[in-house]
Amino acid sequence: MKSQDIRKAYLQFFESKGHLIVPSAPIVLKDDPTLMFNNSGMAQFKEYFLGNATPKSNRIADTQKCLRVSGKHNDLEDVGFDTYHHTMFEMLGNWSFGDYFKKEAIPWAWEFLTEVLKLDKDRLYVSVFEGNEAENVPFDQDAFDIWKQFVSEDRIILGNKKDNFWEMGDQGPCGPCSEIHIDLRTDAERAEVSGFSLVNADHPQVVEIWNNVFMEFNRKADGSLEKLPAQHVDTGMGFERLCMAMQNVTSNYDTDVFTPLIEKVEQITGLKYTSNEVKNISEEQNKINIAIRVVVDHVRAVAFAIADGQLPSNTGAGYVIRRILRRAIRYGFTFLNTKEPFINQLVAVLADQMGEFFPEIKKQQTLVTNVIREEEASFLRTLDQGLQLLENVMAETKGKEVVGAKAFELYDTFGFPIDLTALILRERGFSLDEAGFEKAMQEQKSRSRAASEVSTDDWKILVDGNVESFVGYDQTENEVKIT
Ligand code: ATP
Ligand code: MG
Ligand code: MG
Ligand code: MG
Repeated sequence: MKSQDIRKAYLQFFESKGHLIVPSAPIVLKDDPTLMFNNSGMAQFKEYFLGNATPKSNRIADTQKCLRVSGKHNDLEDVGFDTYHHTMFEMLGNWSFGDYFKKEAIPWAWEFLTEVLKLDKDRLYVSVFEGNEAENVPFDQDAFDIWKQFVSEDRIILGNKKDNFWEMGDQGPCGPCSEIHIDLRTDAERAEVSGFSLVNADHPQVVEIWNNVFMEFNRKADGSLEKLPAQHVDTGMGFERLCMAMQNVTSNYDTDVFTPLIEKVEQITGLKYTSNEVKNISEEQNKINIAIRVVVDHVRAVAFAIADGQLPSNTGAGYVIRRILRRAIRYGFTFLNTKEPFINQLVAVLADQMGEFFPEIKKQQTLVTNVIREEEASFLRTLDQGLQLLENVMAETKGKEVVGAKAFELYDTFGFPIDLTALILRERGFSLDEAGFEKAMQEQKSRSRAASEVSTDDWKILVDGNVESFVGYDQTENEVKIT
């Protein structure tokens, strides 16, 4: 089944269950001071859950463009290295605003996966909230009992508060959630290790696909819980992961969501990507694969952000977008040998592929292409200058170890990425004084440590007018990663 048809099947299924189908909200949030990007399907509906607005229908379904690169949800570090976390992804979601609850939501989820899509029941596991006495939240007996009608008890994993309980923030609506995981291991691997305690954290081929949140409580200021007067359902399913399961592959990048983009990169670079089924690849090929995954992932995030009105810039959301694009340029430059702008050429492929469902990408195709090309050209110049400066540094270095502070200066003043510095030094027979680099970094950090706060909630009430700060990516960037 093609990805286009999988998306359609989901929306049609929930339409047949009385849901109003609505378009995705933009990926960039302009009027929410607590969140920079949409990072889940429910963000555009939060006013409904808070009771501040009334929905057009009490059953809604859609696919939402999400970006998880900042705040509570930051998957950037994994992108390229694993096969199922993206920066931008689509989250399929169905909602009940005070309407249906667990006894409809669970059977529908099961019906959709096993009857409409005909996924192998034998490969599905579910998780249910185990309860937490200290926090005064009960075991989700209802969900457990409903699931028991469909799956054997040993396939129901009990999950803790971190994985299976959703809270809006310190206060407000909250409730247990129930996840569905799929086991895509080979039969041989399954025979070797069975048992159902596997979740995606434990094995790269056992992947969470769908989360069903049941909002049934309200957490009060004193920390106690009360039952909400009306109960809600909020679900989110990773579209690309579902496509992976449906297309009998073990990596999102081997689905038709990504293969046209990958083919274009192959065509431009003359390099080959190997699918996840190919084992025992060389270290060299592995790096090429990672870089290609980074490029085809990041171009989607950047292209959709620009199409939704967020240009790369030096502040706020624009800065995040610029850094994502630069990460892709850097991986290309280092591992795919791309010294000229090329990522912009992928926009046409993306527009062809996604334009039917997301017309904004087609409409803004020229702008998006041009902006990306300009950004590429300018950052490639920076990289070029950095290379020159690095030459000077090496020429001035007595012995074979480059002073950490020098590398930091390149990084800090000229934007030259540290992992690239380390790589080039190594190739040229030099080493990097990593401790010295770290020290210079720490000194700079303590100088600039502002009152910015890391968001740990899905959103929070503003107390002092502070906006969620983008910290995650800087942390990633600042790590000395010697590959
Ligand atoms: P994971 O544990 O895999 O990081 P999650 O528990 O953080 O996922 P949820 O917040 O429950 O994810 O989001 C609902 C669904 O969205 C997940 O079940 C998954 O299918 C999908 N999803 C979450 N994060 C990503 C991502 N970075 N890329 C692609 N799909 C994702
Ligand atoms: Mg996650
Ligand atoms: Mg999870
Ligand atoms: Mg989850």
